[in-house]
This record gives sequence, structure tokens and C-alpha cells, in this order.
Amino acid sequence: MSGFVIPAPPQASVAVDGTADRFPVRRIFCVGRNYAEHAREMGHDPQAEPPFFFTKPADALVPSGAVIAYPPMTADLHHEAELVAAIGTGGQDIAVGAALAHVWGYAAGNDLTRRDLQAEAKAARRPWDMAKGFDKSAVVGALRPAARGPMDRGAIRCSVDGALRQEADLSDMIWPLPAIIAHLSRLVALAPGDLIFTGTPAGVGPLRRGQTCRVEIDGLSPAVVTLA
Ligand code: MN
Repeated sequence: MSGFVIPAPPQASVAVDGTADRFPVRRIFCVGRNYAEHAREMGHDPQAEPPFFFTKPADALVPSGAVIAYPPMTADLHHEAELVAAIGTGGQDIAVGAALAHVWGYAAGNDLTRRDLQAEAKAARRPWDMAKGFDKSAVVGALRPAARGPMDRGAIRCSVDGALRQEADLSDMIWPLPAIIAHLSRLVALAPGDLIFTGTPAGVGPLRRGQTCRVEIDGLSPAVVTLA
């Protein structure tokens, strides 16, 4: 007999809205600068570049409603409200017109970011991993099956202790979800269980200890997190 030499890590997963079922998560991909106003607020020309990607580990997931500690090594934790797509069927070189058939469901998400570490990484031309892929950096609400309808438009909002911080429409994305999936599937073979954070609108800003941040997208369960 052979086996694992340490206990196998638990399978990361996301709740499915209205059921006790779970969606198992394999990888988390995130799109940068996918709303024009946010690209401008970060000092970039929104029309100048194709979509680009970074990742978070699957075990960075935080369920909606969680209370988490303020993350270490930052004094400038930011919220980023985002639509999250869950890949149910893998593939590579996926055509734009076929892309949505690969989506199992959608959720509201918060791409928590250590903005100070990201600024340092950018200035030093270093990777973003420690600014983006830290523990408990991926808040994801319950998934709604894609069979209930597409999420190509609808309001996306972020509020902190009830004060509105971000508000846009999903149709404001520079790269719509089918184009994101097509592009990403040329870089890597997408697989069942992959999540894609699709970028955040303008209005990102700091979260402080004791605050509750709520991401709402029309038709989806909210993604709520409180910082202890
Ligand atoms: Mn983001």
C-alpha cells in the first residue's frame, strides 16, 4: 500500500445558492483593469492593452458572512467588487461564441487587495502574488447556476458599513466574460472548478478593522465580509 505522506489538504469549495451542494474549486484566476474608470483611477489607459491575469490560491476562499482578521503586512487593504464566473467544463483555445457554455455559475466576489504591497511590487517590477494571493483574499458568495440566465448586464455595487463605494453595470466591462474566457483559455487549459474574477469598477478603497464590506450584484447572493 502507498498513500499520502501527510493528510491530503481539504478540497476548497463554494456554496451553491439555495442548496446544500458545494462547487469544488481548483484554481482562481483574476482579470486586471477590466472597467475603464478603474483603469484610469489606477493610472492606466483602458484601451491600451489586452486582458491580463493574476491568480489566488484556491484555499484563499472566504465564504460570504465570514469575519476575518485584518490581513498581516498591510496598512491599506482594499475592496474590489467583482463578478465571479465558475467554470464547469474545461477547454483550451475556446472560441468567444462557445465560451459561456463552459460556465457553470456566477457569484458576487471581493478581490481583497493589499494595495500598499501592490504599489511596491509595481514600482519594483515584481510579481503581485503577495498583494493579491494572500490568505483569505478571495471572498465569494453563493453560486447561481448559469442555467438560470446570463450575467452580461446588471448592477454591481460595493458598500462599506452601508456607504456606497463602487457602483457600475456588468455591461461596462472592457472585456466581456466570453472574451476573457477565450483569452485565458489560450494561456492555460481551463478546467472544471476554475473560478474567474472578472475585474472591478472604479471606487476601490480602504477597509478598516471593524468594518463590513458588502458586494451586491443584481440577481446574485451578496458577498459579505467583516474585518475583526
Ligand atoms: Mn480585481
